[in-house]
Amino acid sequence: MSDELTSILMRPIPLEEKTGFRNLAVMGGLGRYFLSFLEKAEKAGEISPETRAEADKLAHGYETATISERKSIIAGMKRLLSGGKVRGGPKKDRAAEKTAEAKASIASRALSSIKGKNAEESDIQYAKGVGPSLGSLLRRMGINRISDLLSYYPRRYDDRSSVKKIADLQDGEACTVLARVISKREMRTRGGMTITKVLVTDSSGAPLTLVWFNQPFRGKSLKNGDMMYASGKAEFKMNSFEMNSPETEAFVEEAARSARIVPVYPLSENLSQRTIRKIIKTNLDIYADSLEDPIPERTRAERNLRGYSWAIRNIHFPESQEAAAEARRRLAYDELFFFQLRLAAFRMKKEKIPKNRTYDISPSILDEFKKGLPFSLTRAQERSIREIMMDLASPHPMSRLVQGDVGSGKTMVAAAAAFTAARSGFQAAIMAPTEILAGQHYKKFSAYLSPYGIKTALLTGSSRKREREESLAGLADGSIEVAIGTHALIQEGVEFKRLGLAIVDEQHRFGVMQRTSLQRKGENPDMLVMTATPIPRTLSLTLYGDMDISVIDELPPGRKPVKSFFCPMEKIGRVWEYVRREVGKGRQAYVVCPLVDESDKVEAKAAITQAEELSSGVFADLRVSLLHGRMKPAEKDEAMEEFRSGRTDVMISTTVIEVGMDVPNATVMVIMNSERFGLSQLHQLRGRIGRGSADSVCFFAGDAEGGDSAERMRTMVSESDGFAIAKKDLELRGPGDFCGTRQHGLPDFRAADIVSDSGLLEDAKSDAEAALRRDPSFLDRPAVERRARLIFSNPNEIIN
Ligand code: ADP
Ligand code: MG
Repeated sequence: MSDELTSILMRPIPLEEKTGFRNLAVMGGLGRYFLSFLEKAEKAGEISPETRAEADKLAHGYETATISERKSIIAGMKRLLSGGKVRGGPKKDRAAEKTAEAKASIASRALSSIKGKNAEESDIQYAKGVGPSLGSLLRRMGINRISDLLSYYPRRYDDRSSVKKIADLQDGEACTVLARVISKREMRTRGGMTITKVLVTDSSGAPLTLVWFNQPFRGKSLKNGDMMYASGKAEFKMNSFEMNSPETEAFVEEAARSARIVPVYPLSENLSQRTIRKIIKTNLDIYADSLEDPIPERTRAERNLRGYSWAIRNIHFPESQEAAAEARRRLAYDELFFFQLRLAAFRMKKEKIPKNRTYDISPSILDEFKKGLPFSLTRAQERSIREIMMDLASPHPMSRLVQGDVGSGKTMVAAAAAFTAARSGFQAAIMAPTEILAGQHYKKFSAYLSPYGIKTALLTGSSRKREREESLAGLADGSIEVAIGTHALIQEGVEFKRLGLAIVDEQHRFGVMQRTSLQRKGENPDMLVMTATPIPRTLSLTLYGDMDISVIDELPPGRKPVKSFFCPMEKIGRVWEYVRREVGKGRQAYVVCPLVDESDKVEAKAAITQAEELSSGVFADLRVSLLHGRMKPAEKDEAMEEFRSGRTDVMISTTVIEVGMDVPNATVMVIMNSERFGLSQLHQLRGRIGRGSADSVCFFAGDAEGGDSAERMRTMVSESDGFAIAKKDLELRGPGDFCGTRQHGLPDFRAADIVSDSGLLEDAKSDAEAALRRDPSFLDRPAVERRARLIFSNPNEIIN
């Protein structure tokens, strides 16, 4: 074959390789491109019918091939076309590559202007009606491609078919009115705030005042006589209705005629609802019908799901509320499905990792351990331990999460696992988030394990140099079997001879990196992570979907629920009296001050001041300890030890006691400014008391006015079940806040709701697993891959 024809045929290949084999390198697709040139080549007598047949065979499947199949098609094509010939120098190749790239990029741009395969993957700037300046505005909103635009779902809908007349409004009602501006006024308060008031009316003739604070542009953008929709909560004040900070939108005749249910998008100030609606509508008309549906027909039928194209149209411009709900359900399913697909792939990958360890899990080992305990294990602890033993015995590394409410006895479960590891000749490492907790674990572990001759070591940032060196030597030569510590465990220089088991306590306090660093201290060690943040199953499936889960759903016997009360600050004196009475009976108390950020000096000072006030005031005759994050480790230890041993009566502290503190004689807790804490955190704090057999009382002091404070306090006072509290917390704060940050791997779900879509999530999970079982390369299919990418901006962020 002539060099010229070969080079034409080969031209798009470098770009196709560069862009990840997504069939974007030439207009109309690479398969068709090859086929037409191969035909020409054969006609011109450049290639033999045999070569053509072979190349045709390769080219035919290109459109529908998976990414990895495409790689081999391209490789085969290269081999066939070059006929083993080495062509050109590297220089020439690079030049050719450049021209090919330039040409192909023109082709791919041209693609966006026509309806073609995967054209929706083109840059947003080539969407119809967009262009460079609107394009850059959209990019700032995270809309980079046309497909992102199509997946930019509305926040809610305005139902124009149910616009209210102002005369019919009810006090406190959330509604939309269609009204005309009569007059407007702008005022300034002494504090420098601007208040914009716009008086409007509608065909019912009744007046309504729209009010905005500090948004002067609202007034400027409206003229008398303008018609607009205003949505918000109507409140009856001084004889007429007012709407505070309503959302408004100019009334446009033709738009109103065409749609009754209108999407409302989350937008920045510089983009109007009207503009985004228009570009979404235009581009839906171009692209929606040709979108590939990555969910197999069979699954759709089984799960009663609408087609993808239908759903994408109807999430934006639904014909009815029901259609909007169905569309959302389908798109929510997709998000959950693709997320579970990745997790399942991840699990499958893990299941292939071999483990070169055998543990002795015979019942006698565990019996031996149990004999040394001062109590018998709860059924839930027994079950979790059994599950862990099965994992240890399996030929692949364990990856298990133990989830249990505060005080459910997770430490014991970890100790049983560490005991088994040590008995089997392997080392175990336990990492805890604070020095206080690490120290406490160390005491417990060494008490349980040393009678069996198992050596333990504590490793924290404040370990003394000599101690540290001894520990490091012992871990490296294997003479120390169990290491307990903080982040100090994952530092450089810490080496294990044969780390078999890595345990992370309070794992929600750690970042993903820290967990993996501990894992890297061994050769694919068995991983056990423990969390006290009780989260609903839907959320744990999402956050910990790559792990097996054990739940400790039972507290040790004899625990009495902590009695809880809310106490407004003006009545705090009575609480102090209660504390004094309890101390008089020989009990101890915690007073927790709100220190949201341990590193904040000002707040630390506030806690110290409060402690001083209390200790020189109401508690002048009591013995008081102070504990906060800015104290030196030795001082912390001392304060803890004072309190634990009963030398002090009251522990005034910041939230550093949230994890781990275990002093059964403490029966009272007072949480100051409790409205500042999240529900789950309050529950964790409260879990520090009620650990003995005596009655315990928790006071939530603070200000329950405003916002959802009252509801939060009601929850804390009436609920003692961590799962129920977490559920409420999740409801009130939303999953993002609830989990803290993105580092926890919570994906950016737009249609799905982790809390309410639990049924859909279970379906998606089993479908994803089935899809992967049927076809392990399912995730590599271009349509699947593209959609998965849409949901995760950074797939590496997902988990582990
Ligand atoms: P958490 O799950 O919050 O980590 P811990 O492991 O700290 O809970 O246990 C809380 C307390 O309960 C500790 O004082 C521990 O000794 C005790 N405990 C654990 N298991 C049992 C049990 N089966 N029976 C009685 N007390 C137990
Ligand atoms: Mg614990």
